[in-house]
Amino acid sequence: MGDPISKISVDRHEGALPEDLRRYCERALALGATQARVIATSDIPVDERITLKCQVPRCFGYGAGAHCPPHTLKPAELRELLKGFRWAVLFIKDVPPEVIVRDKATIKERVEAYQQMYKIVNDVESMAFYDGHYLAFGFAAGSCRHTFCGQQETCQAMEGKKCRFSLLSRPSMEAVGIDVFQMVAKAGWEIYPIGSGAKPDQFPKGTLAGIVIVQ
Ligand code: SF4
Repeated sequence: MGDPISKISVDRHEGALPEDLRRYCERALALGATQARVIATSDIPVDERITLKCQVPRCFGYGAGAHCPPHTLKPAELRELLKGFRWAVLFIKDVPPEVIVRDKATIKERVEAYQQMYKIVNDVESMAFYDGHYLAFGFAAGSCRHTFCGQQETCQAMEGKKCRFSLLSRPSMEAVGIDVFQMVAKAGWEIYPIGSGAKPDQFPKGTLAGIVIVQ
């Protein structure tokens, strides 16, 4: 039997929030995040120029998956939604740079690393939901079109069918316009611009980021 779940409170368990946010950081770290911290949603930079980078130069995921631009939540919509929230948990996971560089030799490691980030986001979001912060939602890293459906011809959700990984897949932070580079740098953590033409030995590490907007 699992632990008993508290009934919903009108204030969405406001009083427990500081302790709950601390526990979410702990959980993210226990699941493999390298760093985690609580942030105010007013400190989340949302910028249309971020999703422009999905289109120019064109990413393989652009227009190819339900959780990628231009099909997913628009930056303006997210900006508006965030006005209803105050606190979030941001986390990063350090990975070897060769995992980020798009090299066919490291596809398996890349998919595993991104899937792990989705797992952390799912787990923390789920914790918050069962703690009574039932409006919590999260964004992961990279495209679910690659991370979960890379071997498939199409995104099933775009064909009007059920997403193959409906509970696991999420938009990435960058797909909805969050400036991940700026957020991570502002948190005091290291992140490097690893582009498609990068060589792994140019960087000390790669970084994947995720976020759960809690309340
Ligand atoms: S079907 Fe696959 S590509 Fe489409 S939204 Fe779901 S996980 Fe993403």
